[in-house]
Amino acid sequence: MDFQGRSSIVTGASQGIGKAIALELAREGAEVILVDIQKEKLDEVADEIRANKGKAAVFRADVSRMDEAVRVVEEVVKGSKKIDFLVNNAGITKDNLLMRMKEEEWDAVLNVNLKGVFNFSKTVIRNMINNRYGRIVNISSIVGLIGNVGQCNYSASKAGVIGFTKSLAREVASRGITVNAVAPGYIDTPMTEGLPEAVKQQFRDWIPMKRFGTPEEITHAVKFLLSDEAAYITGQVINVNGGMFM
Ligand code: NAP
Repeated sequence: MDFQGRSSIVTGASQGIGKAIALELAREGAEVILVDIQKEKLDEVADEIRANKGKAAVFRADVSRMDEAVRVVEEVVKGSKKIDFLVNNAGITKDNLLMRMKEEEWDAVLNVNLKGVFNFSKTVIRNMINNRYGRIVNISSIVGLIGNVGQCNYSASKAGVIGFTKSLAREVASRGITVNAVAPGYIDTPMTEGLPEAVKQQFRDWIPMKRFGTPEEITHAVKFLLSDEAAYITGQVINVNGGMFM
């Protein structure tokens, strides 16, 4: 895939899936605008991209804040004039049984995982409409499709991302813009490394492929949805989960 000349924003790009996506887009020639709440690790990702002769810019921003999304997008548009790809990947968990879930845990997860997608999509969409071209990929989750004990907040946010994806896909389909989601299963990243080993083993037993996925395995699906080959695909959810949900 040749992404030369493509300008792309990846949120949550400091580590895990977002980092893998950013590195791969840069490898394919895209300029990558790395957004994350943690700046130090973001600088390391940018250094890695530049060391491999790729193009990267870094923005420390909280995706849950509209003013920060506006700041990032205005700066990018000032420089490169256009935004071709947006990958809404930043996400958090704050797990608890509903009975014990604090309002702050609900709000924090919805604000990052769902409002963050709204903030960045709304902010880039005018530019994409003007260019009559754009690709948005939102990272949802298997949990948004099947639910999970202790994750009412997270599953609601990720199901919300799917509804958002389909609605926006319908709104902008005639403008050359596609909007899709990728729903990962259990992937080896800092988000899942803290799970107790017994819980991890339970998931491995449940997954038909008997292993967690890698960030790179999510990246392949994202890359395809961003490519010209996927031009006629919009409003879809690609499941990448080792067969855990069919
Ligand atoms: P991760 O390793 O925790 O990386 C997420 C990144 O997003 C972190 O760098 C995080 O920074 C950043 N972030 C958090 N809040 C932010 C905010 N308000 N603004 C900007 N950046 C923020 O997670 P991951 O596993 O790579 O997950 C990436 C995406 O895939 C998430 O949307 C997640 O829900 C989804 N997903 C993951 C899995 C999995 O098994 N790993 C499965 C399904 C879906 P901090 O570390 O400082 O919070």
